[in-house]
Amino acid sequence: MTHDQRPTTTLTVLIQVAVPVPRLDLLTYAVPDGFETPCVGARVVVPLGSRIVTGIVVEVGVSNGDGRTSGISSSADIKAIREVLDAGAFVPPDVVALARWTADYYAAGVGDTISALLPPMARGGRADAHKTVRVAAITAAGLGALEVRASTSSAPAEDNARPELVEGRALTTRQREALELLAGSPAGIATVALASRGIAAAAISRLARHGYISLRQDRVERDPFQTPVPGTSAGVGGQGPVPGTGAGVRQLTMEQTAAFERLRALADTREFRVALVHGVTGSGKTEIYIRLSAAVRAAGRRVLMLVPEIALTPVAASLFRQAFGERVAIQHSGLSDGERHDQWQRIRRGDIDVVVGTRSAVFAPLEQVGLIVVDEEHDGSYKQEESPRYNGRDVAIVRAQRAGALVLLGSATPSMETYHNAVAGKYERVVLERRVLDRPLASVRVVDMREEYAAEGPDVILSRALRDGIRARLECGEQSLVLLNRRGFATAVFCRQCAGTIDCPNCSVSLVVHGEGSAKRACCHYCNYTARVPTACPLCAGPYLEQAGFGTERVEAEVRRTCPDARVARLDRDAIRRKGSLSTLLNRFRDGEIDVLVGTQMIAKGHDFPRVTLVGVVSADVGLGLADFRASERTFQLLTQVAGRAGRGEQPGEAIVQTLYPDHYSIQLACRQDYPAFYEREMLFRKAMRYPPVLSLVNAVVRSRTFAGAMDDAADVVQKVREGDAHALRVLGPAPAPLGKLRGEYRAQLLIKGTNRRKIREALQAALASRPELQRRMVVDVDPLSVL
Ligand code: ADP
Ligand code: ZN
Repeated sequence: MTHDQRPTTTLTVLIQVAVPVPRLDLLTYAVPDGFETPCVGARVVVPLGSRIVTGIVVEVGVSNGDGRTSGISSSADIKAIREVLDAGAFVPPDVVALARWTADYYAAGVGDTISALLPPMARGGRADAHKTVRVAAITAAGLGALEVRASTSSAPAEDNARPELVEGRALTTRQREALELLAGSPAGIATVALASRGIAAAAISRLARHGYISLRQDRVERDPFQTPVPGTSAGVGGQGPVPGTGAGVRQLTMEQTAAFERLRALADTREFRVALVHGVTGSGKTEIYIRLSAAVRAAGRRVLMLVPEIALTPVAASLFRQAFGERVAIQHSGLSDGERHDQWQRIRRGDIDVVVGTRSAVFAPLEQVGLIVVDEEHDGSYKQEESPRYNGRDVAIVRAQRAGALVLLGSATPSMETYHNAVAGKYERVVLERRVLDRPLASVRVVDMREEYAAEGPDVILSRALRDGIRARLECGEQSLVLLNRRGFATAVFCRQCAGTIDCPNCSVSLVVHGEGSAKRACCHYCNYTARVPTACPLCAGPYLEQAGFGTERVEAEVRRTCPDARVARLDRDAIRRKGSLSTLLNRFRDGEIDVLVGTQMIAKGHDFPRVTLVGVVSADVGLGLADFRASERTFQLLTQVAGRAGRGEQPGEAIVQTLYPDHYSIQLACRQDYPAFYEREMLFRKAMRYPPVLSLVNAVVRSRTFAGAMDDAADVVQKVREGDAHALRVLGPAPAPLGKLRGEYRAQLLIKGTNRRKIREALQAALASRPELQRRMVVDVDPLSVL
């Protein structure tokens, strides 16, 4: 290139853009002349292959024309952006940085993390898009029609039809209902609200055409609080305390006061701190969160409140709403796209002081964050089981670190990781040992099922103690919870002739039987494959098929059989398929319309039901058989949590725990509710086996259409990682994954242990560098919660 040809003054602005496309890393684009340079966090429209997509600006740099760029590597064929959608930052720059950190730490593409944090509609439309709704309002003609009806209502039917005709026909019941509703709402009612009461759009437009009602478009922000939530229904109550109604008036207990004062002092430092709030179930942690939030807010900063389950957000949000009014927003994936988008925009505009949400709310566009609460921090729901496989609790800690905020990790059963950090002095430890109002912890009784089988035969599901316990509660009008962490009716179908089981054709698991009689079918819980339950064995054609094992449906049937008068319901993923059915069920239980609620771990979480005095655990050892290093930890947590659901009102509670391993330490110590002893015992195992929190762990699974293919590829990766940095890391595998086949693909696994996660990630990346095609077939899970 000669001196003359060289462009001397071209300064091209280059930007790094994250687009919401799986596995994609940052992409470089040029900002053409005449465009305003977008800032970090702004949305830009960019070409991507043959598509046009919306991305977020992550970095801005300048190229001086010879290919050298500040901070950004440029290459010859850089494409230009098409449009800049925002003058300022759409996503706050610190949230963009948090997304980058998350992608890096969890070995995911930035594209994955960006998708996780954008509100649903931001991917296409412009900022501040409000929803407009059609509102119907009654007119004079409509009121006239109602009046005529009222004054003629005693007249013979054939007379009163005349004055209220629509298109020559009498008003239908629905139309009349609509008019009556509207007559009571001078401002009108949204047509969607009418639709939800069964008044169809056609009926409404017909009424409008005839002048009975008028229609207009209103711009509104959708308010997810309008949908009824458990815990706020009119029927809440009974003798127990109503959540939140006493906030501000209520006297803190001495323990709560001491905890609150310590935490407030931490918040006042306005520095990054992490505190474990280790409080037994029912010790009143929520009250502390709310008061601390008030203190933080008074000091001009904002609060992020994370809860593990969507089902727990309405109650938490309504408690915060009682304390902070309108300036509370909800963020979780159960909201409609519109609701989520509106709430997101309100947060971003600064109209919100408290965000309540599930794990993805950790990326809420909230500024001036002074406090992040992670309630039930041990809960597995904080971990996302798809890319990016982040743990919301850990991202929360990083966010707080960058914001100089206080993080509260609340739990009655802290994760081993968190407690380990508390013991090491990295986290402050605030302990609440007593329940509020000196309510005793539930007494726990272990039933050895081997004795039960000996006495009653091998088919016993509910032990004598549990049956008697449920009946006694029924007699005095108290409620029971019965937990079994396994869905379905029977967990396997096997052939008595050839001993074969009926397995999923796509996965290496046996099918689970759901339903009884004609509704009976066999399902795979991993891929949803569903089939009729055959009458003969598909392998040997033998006619002796038998069901084995049992799940929640069978327990529900057993409870109904032993207590025919009881009102029994079931709460598991199958029972709540329909939207809204979960909160309906919880409300009915809370209102006392259900005596016995049977369910999976869903019933163990966080709920506060004051009239529950008995909790039965049908098979406490369900999780112990799994080849997972967290099996004991999970069992301990589940038992402690579920026992904590009993006796939260004025009557003391009891837990009955059925098990085949009454001597296992996780069962023994859960019954004694002795967390520190459990931690010590479990650490012995983790140290001996070199598992977290002693070391860091990365689980990598290779998928392939053949078994040999999966194993060979995994072996290849193992070898490369070993060659790379043999002494710093320990590589286990390759081995068939415990779930060896899933959705038609074979799975081989390798585990990498080390003290430095960055080294592990880099070793993996290096191993995969020469095989980009393998990258797509490999799932990398950093800090896995489960290695199945
Ligand atoms: P945790 O989250 O620690 O399990 P909660 O915050 O749900 O416990 O509190 C348990 C119950 O005690 C709730 O019904 C709550 O309203 C009530 N409560 C909390 N603090 C007090 C207090 N100081 N006085 C009376 N009742 C309280
Ligand atoms: Zn399957």
